[in-house]
This record gives sequence, C-alpha cells and structure tokens, in this order.
Amino acid sequence: MTPTSATGVYAVIGNPVRHSLSPIMHNGWIEDHGFDAVYVALELNNKDPVAALRTLGTFGVRGANVTVPYKEAAAAAARSGSLEVANVLRWDESGALTATNTDGQGFLRALSELSIDWRTYVRRVLIVGAGGAGQGIAHAISPFVDIVAIANRTAARAESAARELANGRVLEWADLNAGFSEADLVVQATTLGMDSREDHPWPISACKSSAIVADVVYRPLETSLLRAARRLELRTMDGLGMLIHQGALSFEYWFGVAPDVSKARARLRAALGA
Ligand code: NAP
Repeated sequence: MTPTSATGVYAVIGNPVRHSLSPIMHNGWIEDHGFDAVYVALELNNKDPVAALRTLGTFGVRGANVTVPYKEAAAAAARSGSLEVANVLRWDESGALTATNTDGQGFLRALSELSIDWRTYVRRVLIVGAGGAGQGIAHAISPFVDIVAIANRTAARAESAARELANGRVLEWADLNAGFSEADLVVQATTLGMDSREDHPWPISACKSSAIVADVVYRPLETSLLRAARRLELRTMDGLGMLIHQGALSFEYWFGVAPDVSKARARLRAALGA
C-alpha cells in the first residue's frame, strides 16, 4: 500500500539503529494484514531522550520499539510505574502514552520453541548482562526456576536487578566460570558479540553437558559464544527467535492481532543471508 497522509507511522528508535531488522519484520506483517501503516528506523541523538520520545506522539507516531540505549528512557517517558525498562511504546487516539516490555516473554516463547519442556529441568539460570534485555529475561523466567544468577560488568546494575527478584542472586563478573558450571541455562544478554566486534573469552567449557546456551545477539546469528557451545555439542539458541517473538508481541500490542511468526523467520533469515 502506498503511504498517504493518513498512513499510521511506527518506528524502532535507538542508537545505533541502522542494523535493526525490525523494519523488515514489521513492514512484512503490515503488508500481510493490509494495514495502512509504515514502520521506519529512527536514530535518536538527543541529550534528553525522555523528552524526545514523548514528543513523537505529538507528530502522530502511534507506536515504537525502543532499543539500545533508550529502554530506561522509554519506561520513564511513559511514566510506567513499576516498569523500569520498556521496549514498546504506544500512543492512543488522545495521544496518551503507555509502555510495555516484550523482551522477556519473547525470550520465553523462543525457549519453548527450542525445548517445550524446559520448565521441567531448567532450575538454575545464569543471565550475563543486566541491561534492558537481561532484566526483561530475568523477570520473565524468575517464576519458573529456583535461582536466577545475574552477572554484569558494572556490579551495581546486577545487584539492583537481582534485588527485584525473589530468587535473584548476584554473580561477580570474576566468577563467571563458576556461574557457567552451575547453570542449566546460560543467557548471554550483553552487547558483546554484536557485529562480531568483541570476541569475549567465555568459560564455555565449564558448562554441564545438559546445559542450554542462549545468546540474545542476532547479528551475527552465530556468535563466538554459540560457535564454541556447538563445538562442545551443547544445545544452543540464537537471538532470532527472541527478536521475532518480542516483535510479534509488540505488533499485537499496537494492532490487536497476532502476526505470522514463521513468515517473519523466513524473511529475516533471508535478510541475514542465513
Ligand atoms: P543495554 O540496556 O544498553 O545493556 C547493555 C548490556 O551490555 C549491559 O549489561 C552492559 O554492561 C553490557 N556491556 C556492554 N559492553 C560491554 C562490555 N564491553 N563488556 C561487558 N559487558 C558489556 O542493552 P540491551 O537492550 O540489554 O541489549 C543487549 C543486547 O541484547 C544487544 O546486543 C541487543 O541488540 C540485544 N537484544 C536482542 C534482542 C532480541 O530480540 N534478540 C532483544 C533485546 C536486545 P554495563 O551495565 O556494565 O554497561
């Protein structure tokens, strides 16, 4: 559908955001459903991101995904109470702004695709990274497991994320080796490995042979962490499933219909050359 002055505008907002696959995913779904809408990538450069995000609604933008490094600003922009990090914003007809976080639920849906019965054997989880993605996953998985250990380069952030959970524990960054060895599920939720920028020496050989190793990074699909885990024949999960499911939940939040995740998977794998 050719955009007109009546076309609804949706966006992914972050910095950098040129790598984002969200426009391919959402414009594909918009076309599938024949909606009069368009989804664009907006790189935000502003010292006051909270104010900048609020301003978008005054231009008639109806919904947005918010990514690195503005998820805390998104929650603050919507004055979302208990929500400290948000990845989805929605403006209603009156311009009122609400926010939600679909990262955690997106991760759980992807995990259930990999292993439908993960809840029966994943008792201890290690989440490396206490940014928006790590916190979202920690909140979502906490009710289903015994212990959620959180490690973060900046310890204070891990402490505050762990405090939020009834079963949260802080793992010192220097103790990653022990954390990897105890976990049934290891989740890499930092930006390390993104665009193959940093090849971090993860202590993957410490993992149990039954452990699942997940990486939230999806560009590249096979990070050095996942490559090392596959060499050891561990079960692995890349970031694409989470991307698609958090996106599907965002789409439903804006349009009230669940989109086709398998179509998105095919489109995104093609875009990634996979
Ligand atoms: P964020 O809120 O900005 O947090 C970034 C995280 O990375 C923090 O834990 C930060 O630690 C850590 N970090 C950055 N550089 C590091 C380094 N050199 N060494 C160790 N830790 C470092 O970002 P986010 O939203 O959580 O996103 C994190 C990653 O997840 C990104 O790659 C993003 O693309 C990906 N993601 C994927 C999906 C998906 O659907 N697959 C969804 C959301 C996010 P400090 O606190 O110490 O700075």
